Amino acid sequence: MKLINKFFILFSIFVILSSIPTKAIDETQKKYVYLTFDDGPTKGNTPKLLDELERLNLPATFFVVGNLVKENTEAMKKIIDKNHSIGLHTISHNKNKCYESHESFIRENSELRNLLKEKYNIESNILRFPFGSQNSYLKMDKVFLDKLHNNNFKIFDWHIDTTDALNPHKTPQELLNICKRQYEKFYKNNSNIIILMHTNSNNNNTIKALEGIKNYFVELGYEFKSLDDNSKELYNVK
Ligand SMILES: [Zn+2]
Repeated sequence: MKLINKFFILFSIFVILSSIPTKAIDETQKKYVYLTFDDGPTKGNTPKLLDELERLNLPATFFVVGNLVKENTEAMKKIIDKNHSIGLHTISHNKNKCYESHESFIRENSELRNLLKEKYNIESNILRFPFGSQNSYLKMDKVFLDKLHNNNFKIFDWHIDTTDALNPHKTPQELLNICKRQYEKFYKNNSNIIILMHTNSNNNNTIKALEGIKNYFVELGYEFKSLDDNSKELYNVK
């Protein structure tokens, strides 16, 4: 075979192969990041946070505290107006009260669920324990988990803790670096990542960190989503 013919055949094979899509788009391969903000609504921080989420076009989840829901109605209404999802985070957020017994914890979260239903027509069963489900005051075991499930609660801890509650004065770059480090170290193969953040009155740097966090995960192929009753739970059982 003449050299020119060989070249033509090889070239044709190359053209055919390169026209075959290498990877079909598969919905199941989508990857999601869930931004979650605990301890609101607060008067000053939450509305500012909501503006930034809107500017960046980011959906989020707010695990709200009942006493603050009662106090800060404008901020609460704004969370709802902006279509973020709402989760339960007790009425008192007081370890001595909410963790007094299984029953007191269930009572506080049921009361908050009813409040959201009656006042805002929101049905939410997603629940985050203050300090996590394995906190030092009350550790969730199988018995407690069954009780919570029987009350139709769904439990959400987190993968990445930005530590912004403990260290609200960390710079936005430091908060981003925490996300990067934890992702790289533990969650590189995760198709779902839940990030813990806060909307306390002193969490201004959390708001400023959002753009960098968004860019980092978008670059890695993630989309952002809110948690809801259909999301897969995340917790450890003692
Ligand atoms: Zn909290």
